[in-house]
Amino acid sequence: MTSTDSPDCLFCKIVAGDIPADVVASSDTAIAFRDIAPKAPVHVLVVPKEHYPDVPAFAASDPEGLAGVVALADGVASDLGDGQHRLIFNTGPKAGQTVFHVHAHLLAGGELPGFA
Ligand code: AMP
Repeated sequence: MTSTDSPDCLFCKIVAGDIPADVVASSDTAIAFRDIAPKAPVHVLVVPKEHYPDVPAFAASDPEGLAGVVALADGVASDLGDGQHRLIFNTGPKAGQTVFHVHAHLLAGGELPGFA
């Protein structure tokens, strides 16, 4: 499935340039843009250009693409901070996923709270 196969997908529209976003980096296969409601000093979403609903589907179909998302996130963390960062993929509504186009939350900047 490609981004053009999901015309109602918010992140496909951002990838296509139909909805504005604060893009901080991109590669051939992924883009990184600031989250509209940041939860950390640096909160960037890293999104493959191809549409997959969640990270298990993405990893199963395109493991190199997933590696590319991780690499782009690492580069953004170094460009915008000291390189230390947290990546979160929410999978499913009970885990907090609200946009069903796979995305990594890149959180960085200062001390991040630990998990209980
Ligand atoms: P999730 O809840 O894991 O699906 O994450 C979706 C994220 O997308 C949330 O953190 C939202 O704040 C963010 N978001 C929603 N709309 C936009 C937008 N137009 N531009 C940037 N981030 C957005």
